[in-house]
Amino acid sequence: MNRIVVLPGDGIGPEVTAQAVRVLEHVAQQQGIELECVEEQIGGASIDALGTPLRDEVVALCRQSQAVLLGAVGGPAWDAMAVDVRPEKGLLKIRKELGLFANLRPAAVIPALADASTLRPEVVKGIDLLVVRELTGGIYFGEPKGRGESGGVRRAWNTMVYDEHEVARIARVAFEQARLRRNHLTHVHKANVLDVSQLWMDVVEEVAKDYSDVELVHQLVDSCAMLLVRDPGRFDVIVTGNLFGDILSDQAAEITGSLGMLPSASLATGGFGLYEPVHGSAPDIAGHDKANPLAAILSVAMLLETSLECPAGAAAVRDAVASVLGAGHRTADLLLEGEQREVVGCVAMGDHVLAALGDA
Ligand code: NAD
Repeated sequence: MNRIVVLPGDGIGPEVTAQAVRVLEHVAQQQGIELECVEEQIGGASIDALGTPLRDEVVALCRQSQAVLLGAVGGPAWDAMAVDVRPEKGLLKIRKELGLFANLRPAAVIPALADASTLRPEVVKGIDLLVVRELTGGIYFGEPKGRGESGGVRRAWNTMVYDEHEVARIARVAFEQARLRRNHLTHVHKANVLDVSQLWMDVVEEVAKDYSDVELVHQLVDSCAMLLVRDPGRFDVIVTGNLFGDILSDQAAEITGSLGMLPSASLATGGFGLYEPVHGSAPDIAGHDKANPLAAILSVAMLLETSLECPAGAAAVRDAVASVLGAGHRTADLLLEGEQREVVGCVAMGDHVLAALGDA
């Protein structure tokens, strides 16, 4: 039996997750996978009900599971809370406690949605890249950190720190992913300024010796940011640390123009992963059946592929999504300006994907 912990979270999280679970259970039945989905709380929903953004019991349950499917956390109701007890703390805790060190964010332009990008069509054509971001180290977790005051002057500090093992394991994930794709890896750094980046250069080069079939390029983070908008089609897999990856993965997502379409995976060693849409809790549309569930549904495809080792199920989900879009079905966020088309809601979009998957 494969146990999946479902953490719907806040805002549109429960709406998109409900459709994703329907798709997961349907495909599992088609593929003969035994599945048990257990729902728990995270984020603001957990704060309101239980006084904490993530209970230790939920972390323990996740440890005894194959994968976690998450919706989104946060919203205006909890914005005024202190950083240490906010909904986002639940996300940081689950990443750290479960050792989710590798964040995979694919950004590809689906042909039926190519016009949604703010970039010119000839620049957008052929975007199909994957950002592999180190997620549990670097400046977001490094010590010392804090704020203080000296002689009436306020100061604040954070520490960017990596050891060679942390760099080597994320580099290996990235090289493996490149092998599954187009055998090209761009390592993004700031080695002209940062000692940390110089260590990354050395270690990535050492790991590269085991992957002579993958072409490796080192790229400064500032020039990478420029190239992502000028010539994004040149990238296959990008690997980088937590801070640069946070920024570049959002930039890569935005150039596809479809936030409601983008899935992600955060992996630990041994195939365990947490899967979630890239978008947030979208409080502006929550509760109105307007959310696009496709990013959550495509996260299910990543879950099937990686944690349930079912590439056929993953391909079925991706094909179903492409065929639903090809048939012209759109949630409101996918409509282009001035486009006249019937709009479907979150549940109806889930219905269309299920229909495209065929009988269980
Ligand atoms: P957001 O992604 O929630 O929304 C940005 C815009 O995109 C909104 O107009 C929203 O309506 C739209 N949108 C997002 N997802 C959509 C979908 N699936 N279908 C249709 N439209 C969609 O980002 P935000 O507004 O900056 O943040 C809202 C809240 O979400 C904040 O509390 C933030 O902290 C949180 N957040 C959580 C996560 C996460 O849980 N991983 C990620 C980002 C933001």
